[in-house]
Amino acid sequence: MNNSIWNLDTTNNIKELKKDLDIDILIIGGGISGISICYNLINCHKKVVLVEANKVGSGITSKTLGKITALQGHYQDIYNKYGYYITKKYYTSQLEAINLLTKTIIDNKIDCNLEKTAAYLYSSAEATTKKLQEEFQLMQKIGFTNITKENTLPNKEKYPYIISDTNSYTFHPLKYINSLKKIISKNKIDIYENTRIISIIKKDNYYICKSNNGIIKTNKIILACHYPFFLFPYMMPLKVTLEKSYIAAKKEKYYNFSALNKNDKESFRFYKNLTTTYKIFQYGTHNISFNNNYKKHFETLKNKINNWNYLWSNMDIMTGDYIPLIGKIKENFYLATGYNTWGMTNGTLAGKVISDLILKNENTYEKLLDPNRKIYSHWLLAIGSSMYSFTKEKLLPQKKWYNKKIVFDKINNQDVAIYYDNYGIKHPVLRKCPHLKCQLLFNEEEKTWDCPCHGSRFDLEGNVIAGPSNYDIKVK
Ligand SMILES: Cc1cc2nc3c(=O)[nH]c(=O)nc-3n(C[C@H](O)[C@H](O)[C@H](O)COP(=O)(O)OP(=O)(O)OC[C@H]3O[C@@H](n4cnc5c(N)ncnc54)[C@H](O)[C@@H]3O)c2cc1C
Repeated sequence: MNNSIWNLDTTNNIKELKKDLDIDILIIGGGISGISICYNLINCHKKVVLVEANKVGSGITSKTLGKITALQGHYQDIYNKYGYYITKKYYTSQLEAINLLTKTIIDNKIDCNLEKTAAYLYSSAEATTKKLQEEFQLMQKIGFTNITKENTLPNKEKYPYIISDTNSYTFHPLKYINSLKKIISKNKIDIYENTRIISIIKKDNYYICKSNNGIIKTNKIILACHYPFFLFPYMMPLKVTLEKSYIAAKKEKYYNFSALNKNDKESFRFYKNLTTTYKIFQYGTHNISFNNNYKKHFETLKNKINNWNYLWSNMDIMTGDYIPLIGKIKENFYLATGYNTWGMTNGTLAGKVISDLILKNENTYEKLLDPNRKIYSHWLLAIGSSMYSFTKEKLLPQKKWYNKKIVFDKINNQDVAIYYDNYGIKHPVLRKCPHLKCQLLFNEEEKTWDCPCHGSRFDLEGNVIAGPSNYDIKVK
């Protein structure tokens, strides 16, 4: 199975839940969101626990590019929808997040390859040059500091229009959150890994959360699990879409910059560890419900970046207005997700905003990020995307690009798909995602079964490796 460049083996110090708990605050999910929220609650004098279904940092955060920047390429989209004030507010939220993140790293002397690395936004097509010019003018208007116009990237590539932002960074995301995990644990907050919350029931003024390892009674719940696994109360599948991208890392000369191509969503950065330097390159972004021939996307990426050393895919939640969903969704129930592929800043911001809400401190971004705001046009797309992939995969279950390695069959009256590996060994799994019964698609490059409706992923043996599904697809 191909893997992300960031994968760190922390198997040795995993602590699982082994008893029932009665606590004040439960954080579900140990990615950058959950860990940042937990870090901000260290001194809150309440009983706080974080549970993580797999290992801390094993989710979307383990597959990110690790850029920390406010140069995200969507200020015009926000401006067209909400106008000047909200656009400026979003920019200041990103600036605050960059300051918080870098301050946390410096204050705690965290070794996570943090580098001040200018970010560039460019366009390779003349057609988008005008859009970039407008983006630059808008950024100036909302008070963006440290930006300039360029026409050459530091590696000497020339483009018709380039915006550079020197207040940007890159880092190693997993070294960062694993260091925060250690700091949190030293401050006597328990983090339980391999502990998946399976159901939540409201009783009087508390919640009962059932996990695979024990029952947790808690007053407050913070969902930092990327895509929540239940339908009610929030009805996530009706509100958001998911975008998937393909990433490769290859050994290459180091340059101290990162870049994002506005017109074809190509994005890259450089990374150096003690011995080697890499270029990390992302390409081929699509809504997970459409255009989901994974094999073709990986082929296209490989054609662009040959001799790769790491290869993987990742996906993130899109909200429709490029502003995340962070805050209270109902009494004592909080959500932190929907980062539109900018989770290093927004996950950090979630740490501050959610902890402020819980501790009843004022936070200037509460209204901006309100997860209960209504984005009707995107909700239509979200429903349409789910329905499309649900129906299409039902009608056309046999895909040519499976390369004849997949056979559909029935075992014990259950619909199964069997993958034959290169040694002819069979790997049978159930065909449908336990979340909302969508037909799964095989991702041959990463050897996973991926859901084209809401993004759940399973390994070859049927173990769930990414939600919203809470259940495996093992054949019984
Ligand atoms: C291709 C790509 C490139 C990106 N590059 C960048 C970048 O350069 N800079 C940037 O700022 N952002 C980037 N992002 C976005 C960023 O990676 C994500 O927004 C961010 O990592 C999401 O973090 P999270 O903590 O919300 O989710 P996750 O990291 O997925 O954490 C959620 C955790 O919850 C756990 N969980 C799920 N269900 C349960 C349950 N029932 N019980 C217990 N635990 C559970 C999961 O196991 C998981 O570990 C990129 C995204 C993509 C797709």
